[in-house]
Amino acid sequence: MHEPFNIVGLNGSNSIGVANGLFCKPIENADELNLNGRLLTPGFVDCHTHLVWAGSRADEYVQRCAGVDYLQIAKQGGGILKTMQQTRSATINELAESVIARAETMLKNGTTTIEIKASYGLSLEASKKELDAVQRAKQSIRQNVIVTFMGAHAFPPEMNSENYMRLLEQELIPMAADHPVGVKFNDCFCEQTAFNLHQTRKVMQAGIQHGLTPKVHADEFNVLGAVELACEMGAASCDHLLASGSRQFQTLAKSNTAAVVLPCTAFYLNKPYANARAMIDAGCVVALGTDYNPGTSMIGSMTFAFGLAVNKMRLSPHEALIAATENAAKALRVESGKIEPGFPADFCIWPCANLDELAYQFVHIQPESVYIKGERVV
Ligand SMILES: [Zn+2]
Repeated sequence: MHEPFNIVGLNGSNSIGVANGLFCKPIENADELNLNGRLLTPGFVDCHTHLVWAGSRADEYVQRCAGVDYLQIAKQGGGILKTMQQTRSATINELAESVIARAETMLKNGTTTIEIKASYGLSLEASKKELDAVQRAKQSIRQNVIVTFMGAHAFPPEMNSENYMRLLEQELIPMAADHPVGVKFNDCFCEQTAFNLHQTRKVMQAGIQHGLTPKVHADEFNVLGAVELACEMGAASCDHLLASGSRQFQTLAKSNTAAVVLPCTAFYLNKPYANARAMIDAGCVVALGTDYNPGTSMIGSMTFAFGLAVNKMRLSPHEALIAATENAAKALRVESGKIEPGFPADFCIWPCANLDELAYQFVHIQPESVYIKGERVV
């Protein structure tokens, strides 16, 4: 076992805010770690995943690639409700084992903090089971874990929307807030096919009453006012933002709410990318996540998300790195994603010389070593 390793200096700078502070020989008096000209970055913070699920949606993925419409797939029993059924049928142990395996893949790709949404149970029993599974998995996962409850992901088929809203407000959200895993956020999918603006407000209010900070899946397909509502209610982040425009970007820029963009989802679905360039230019805090989930992003690599942000969203490598670390930490309201002298840091050492190379090699490159709280874990 390594002793916890403290960063003692970064070439005169002390955060990733200064690009040339990242490179080569940043560490003085540190004979334990010789970078030999390799790139050192903070560990990636993945601020948006739906890591708890059972089963597979490979069949509908292949259908979709062949051009079958999503609604047609849903009619055939695919989509979120298929994952709901498979998750409800799984045991706590099965769910925990799969979460651990996914987290391990993410670690090998440089992710040192993971947000995990419990989002497929959609009943009291199954939602509790998901949170139990995360709690069990946390004992084996080496990353920092932040837990989000997302009972407001879809309406389950066994009850009408009014009854499910009541269940959410009176039972699911209170259960999640009291769960020993330590849920921090309460997320809601505001969309024409999911929760409308009025329901989204009620879901957020119920969470706030129980001490959970809101997050919103906002403007993924349609602009319904979710960004404005989220900013008004102090949400930690608005996520997706594919349909958002300059009005929403200005609202976000004036708020404490981070703008989370998920390029892996656009890549996976062959859809246009969110306009992260305009968000940054408007002054938003833009953060990156993978959206790792069985239906729309079977991608757990933040290196891949980082590379897509450069390739498809026209972010500079430095902007993409900030989005994948410091800003993603802001979207989770955690103090992480920064490297500071004397602070036991989460960081990666890469087999390349600089950030341009990391962006250039994003499909295959993996960190040579990963440190969490100063301790080597890969
Ligand atoms: Zn999501």
